[in-house]
Order: sequence, then structure tokens, then C-alpha cells
Amino acid sequence: IHFAAHLQVGESVLNPIKYYMNNTVNTTNLIAMCEKYGVNKFIFSSTAAVYGEPKEMPISETTPTNPINPYGMSKLMSEQVLKDTASANKDFKYVILRYFNVAGASTDNSLGECHIPETHLIPLIIHAAIGKRDKIMMFGDDYPTSDGSCIRDYVHVEDLASAHIKALEYLSGGNESDIFNCGYGHGYSVKEVIDTVKEVSGVDFKVEIVPRREGDPAELVADNTKIKEKMGWRPKYNDLELICASALKWEQK
Ligand code: UDP
Repeated sequence: IHFAAHLQVGESVLNPIKYYMNNTVNTTNLIAMCEKYGVNKFIFSSTAAVYGEPKEMPISETTPTNPINPYGMSKLMSEQVLKDTASANKDFKYVILRYFNVAGASTDNSLGECHIPETHLIPLIIHAAIGKRDKIMMFGDDYPTSDGSCIRDYVHVEDLASAHIKALEYLSGGNESDIFNCGYGHGYSVKEVIDTVKEVSGVDFKVEIVPRREGDPAELVADNTKIKEKMGWRPKYNDLELICASALKWEQK
């Protein structure tokens, strides 16, 4: 299961080589070593960023890929390496999981989300709620969405983890290589996420509306029919309040 990668869209635009070196070249090296030593089942963490700004919503696995930043492209290129490797070597099988917005902390409160620097929406909002920052900045309120802010499909980290277990079982069961979206099929706007954190924390922190962040598509929501039907994925935490409350609890700890 290959999780390790760089994941900041903005950084990838400024420093594409860093992304292609780590997310594509190093992944290719890892795939080569797996092949060489007979590790023939490969689960790869990919991303909704491979779709770019899709014309259809929700996004299915057959929606055309068209990344709009080096991060998405670096992952898509690794997907291609996996596909070509599997075509050439019939023993080599992969599952590509295209993650939507992973969020929340583990339900036993042992594991949470911390990036340095932090750029992700939910941790940053939580920081505003607990006074670690003085406000949250909303990147744009002029998107063509119901309230003008961007919509994302936030998936609880334990549901994402269970998708990997399903992927292991799927490959162990002798099934064919395939690509699966991993999201709930339901989106929330930035504003709705902010309001939810205000509600679960009871803190009315400051929200500042600032211009759009470059490279942010208006809406990314998964069609998750395939992962449910073919792999039997049964998410348990499709609940924005639970996700935000778990993140808050972990941050407080
Ligand atoms: N966002 C925001 N303020 C922030 C960080 C993020 O408004 O301080 C927005 C961002 O524009 C996007 C959404 O929140 O629409 C989710 O961003 P994040 O970086 O968490 O994940 P991404 O969707 O980029 O993978």
C-alpha cells in the first residue's frame, strides 16, 4: 500500500519538479522494485485532482482525467505506470484509489490530521475555533455553487482506511486491476464546513472572505457506485458533524 507522497496543490505549481520526483519518479522506482521482488499486488493512493475541473458531477471513474496542476498530473502519471506495468506483466495487479477530501480523526482519538505547514480546510477551521489562529480565510465566495463557496466531498479517514482493507481483499480474491473513487457522493461547501465547526465547537470565530485560491475547482463530488458495488465498501462515518467533532477532539487533545 503506497501512501507516501507530497500533496499540496499550490506547492506543486511553484515546485513541479519536487512533485514529479517524489510522486512519479519515486513511485516508479517503487513499482519497479515490487515487480523485481515479486510483490504483485499494489494499492496506490491517488486523488480526485486527476480529474481537474470535470464537466460532469458527480465524478465517476470514467469521467475524463485532465489535471490542472502538477500534483494531479504527478499522480496520474503514476497511475499510467501502474496500468502499463500490469499490461506487460499479467501477474502484477493494482487498485488505484482516487481519494476525495480525507478528513477527521480516528474514532478512538489516537490519530489525527497535522500537516506542516497546515493548508487543509478542516484543520485550519479547527485552529480558528480553538484560538490557535485568529480567523479562517474563505478562498472565494463567487463560485457557481449554491452559496458561492467551493464544494468538496469530505470522507472520514477511517472509512478511507477501510477502503484499503477492501482493496486488499479484492486483490487477494484474484480480481482484476481497477480504479475506484473514494468519497461519499455528497458535497459540502466551505461555508457549510465552517458553520458545522462553529456548531460543534460552540465558538463564533472570525471568517474572512478572500480571493479564490489558484487551481481550486468549484466542485468535486465522487460517484462512489463502483467502490460500493465491486468492492463492497460500506462507509460508516458519512456525517460532517461527526467528522468535524472528531477533528476538534483530537486537536484539543
Ligand atoms: N479552503 C479555504 N480556506 C482555507 C483552506 C481551504 O477556503 O484556509 C478551501 C479551498 O479553496 C477548497 C476547500 O477549502 O475549496 C478544501 O481545501 P483543502 O486544501 O482542504 O483540500 P483540496 O480540496 O484542495 O484538496
